[in-house]
Amino acid sequence: CYILAVETSCDETSVAVVKDGKEVLSNLIASQVETHKAFGGVVPEVASRKHVENITLMLEEAVNKAGISLQDLSAVAVTQGPGLVGALLVGVVAATSLAMALNKPLIGTHHIAGHIYANRLVAELEYPCMALVVSGGHTELVYMKSEGSFEVIGRTRDDAVGEAYDKVARAIGFPYPGGPHVDRLALEAEEAVELPRVWLEPDSYDFSFSGLKSAVLNVVNQRKMRGEPVGEGAIARGFQESVVEVLVAKAIRAVNAFHAKQLLLCGGVAANRGLRRELERQCKEQGIKLIIPPFEYCTDNAAMIGAAAYLKWKERKFTALDMQAMPQFSLEDWSVQE
Ligand code: ATP
Ligand code: MG
Ligand code: FE
Repeated sequence: CYILAVETSCDETSVAVVKDGKEVLSNLIASQVETHKAFGGVVPEVASRKHVENITLMLEEAVNKAGISLQDLSAVAVTQGPGLVGALLVGVVAATSLAMALNKPLIGTHHIAGHIYANRLVAELEYPCMALVVSGGHTELVYMKSEGSFEVIGRTRDDAVGEAYDKVARAIGFPYPGGPHVDRLALEAEEAVELPRVWLEPDSYDFSFSGLKSAVLNVVNQRKMRGEPVGEGAIARGFQESVVEVLVAKAIRAVNAFHAKQLLLCGGVAANRGLRRELERQCKEQGIKLIIPPFEYCTDNAAMIGAAAYLKWKERKFTALDMQAMPQFSLEDWSVQE
């Protein structure tokens, strides 16, 4: 089974060919980070225009690079949502047109299912398993009782963790996307500013990062007002320690409570070295199998969409050609299995 997959939900244009949901034959990614940096974040109109500029050539190149012909394709998959509506539409229109022209089935795919199934590109998954999704727009714990069954047991009540990283980075003077800068500073710093840990109710798997973010902004503003040095390193380290402690503790508690056989880490913040180290350490200590995809499959890419779409392919659950982009799209509704 050869799936051509398209991802345009945010600021990466990506096209991939994936064999049997796990073998990446090609995975082209055109990042718009440099374009959006000047604006301090993603500008939706600009993102859509860039996707339009890139997509046609990338479709052709992805198929060529995979060493197959268009007729060899089994299906065309595309991120249906969630994401920026104008950005999603570019992918949806491209994929729908191609599916129609080639007379191949179309598979509308959930972006977060993609982030989760990026793990299938590097390991066989064993169920039940637990996924910790940490990205620019999401922070969720997802329980999967079987393949393609998604139950969101916890989510952020305010900021996503990547969003909090980007805001903190901006406050201490780093450009978008700031996560990697904060990560680097945090690991280099010798001291840490004391910051709160937000646990919410004792039995809750939900997260909250806006209070922590505000605490950081307060420290920065106070120091600036007093004319003191901001102490970027200690702030980054204090912030990262708080985030990591809560994410790791809740993820491990969830793994144990749901008797999950594996923990999957996914989303752009999975690149965070502080998070990876602490999760690796505690999982090892507790005998939990942890899977973390390589960086190129953690940030937005189409290969992960091809991996998730394969679940629908196996069940022959296809999407009608008049498919709509879904800027808000529930992961649970996309479940392949009940
Ligand atoms: P979503 O998938 O929720 O729609 P997204 O696709 O925009 O959001 P990703 O591309 O998965 O998000 O991740 C981007 C985020 O990851 C940014 O907020 C970025 O700052 C953050 N990030 C990347 N590397 C690191 C790092 N080393 N430490 C912390 N955050 C990081
Ligand atoms: Mg992105
Ligand atoms: Fe994403």
